[in-house]
Amino acid sequence: MHELPAVEDIIRALDQESEEKHISSITEVNMIIGELSSYVGECVQLYFDILSAGHTCEGAKLNITHTRAKLKCSCCGLLFDHGRDFSCPSCKGEGKLVKGTGEEFVIASIRY
Ligand SMILES: [Zn+2]
Repeated sequence: MHELPAVEDIIRALDQESEEKHISSITEVNMIIGELSSYVGECVQLYFDILSAGHTCEGAKLNITHTRAKLKCSCCGLLFDHGRDFSCPSCKGEGKLVKGTGEEFVIASIRY
């Protein structure tokens, strides 16, 4: 349910972009959603389909790329993607979450 206001923001941003660039119809929207953002791709798609009606992004294909959080090893300092667990792929040390990573909810690019 909490995807609703987030998708409203996305559509508002797309409307603004359309106005600035005089775009009459957006055909594709590429989004990045981090694994820790708590937004579910299917819900974003659902709300997008409903809310885009009457906007320049109506009927646009929504492509969602999910990104992983980044971890930093507390032993060797290696930076790596969060996988199945928190252990460092190099030394098996404990990885610590890098703040802000994996929380993305942004438009990467659009096609029109
Ligand atoms: Zn390590």
